[in-house]
Amino acid sequence: MVEEQLIPRAIKEPLVLNAFRKVPREKFVPFERRDNSYDDFPLPIGEEQTISQPYIVALMTETLGLKGREKVLEIGTGSGYQTAIIAEIVEEIYTVERIISLAQRAKKTLKELGYTNIKIKIGDGTEGWKEFSPYDAIIVTAAAPKLPQSLIKQLNESGRLIIPLGNLYSQELILYEKKKGKLMIRNFGGCRFVPLRGEHGWK
Ligand code: SAM
Repeated sequence: MVEEQLIPRAIKEPLVLNAFRKVPREKFVPFERRDNSYDDFPLPIGEEQTISQPYIVALMTETLGLKGREKVLEIGTGSGYQTAIIAEIVEEIYTVERIISLAQRAKKTLKELGYTNIKIKIGDGTEGWKEFSPYDAIIVTAAAPKLPQSLIKQLNESGRLIIPLGNLYSQELILYEKKKGKLMIRNFGGCRFVPLRGEHGWK
């Protein structure tokens, strides 16, 4: 996966590539799809949700520019795979999932793998997780119609936020970076995610 899918598509950051080498993706994939664990596409994880394609997980992680000391917020825990990749790189990650069964399964998987720097909450992640804010980086792994202002408020000065923005069928990966009170914006191209549902997402 690392040599054939990520490096040829210009994923370069050693911290990201090493995290991919360490995290056993098959543990996050339903048993009947384990043969496809390292294939170059998203897979269903139940409840009409998906574990994202490895390249997209890598690209989103790389855009955050993580160095190791950060506190990160993830919205959309899903299988917990993206959570584990980030947990390999940073000190603390907080993750919010709205579907109880997925959050419980992810919690079990991450515990079995020995992660101690992850906190999971069940709820509407479009509101963020105020208690532990501000965050150095925020990653939203479901498609939003617009940028939830609640998340921007919970982002540190100089923090970065990556989110797929668009309609229900196609989106663009947009990176926001806070700089001296302003928001810098970069577009990382087209993608397709399941919807971000909630107060500041799709109703
Ligand atoms: N990052 C995940 C992984 O590695 O498996 C994939 C996430 S999946 C593409 C998107 C997830 O976002 C789904 O599990 C979905 O239930 C969740 N989601 C959608 N709206 C949400 C919300 N408002 N708050 C929290 N989670 C949400």
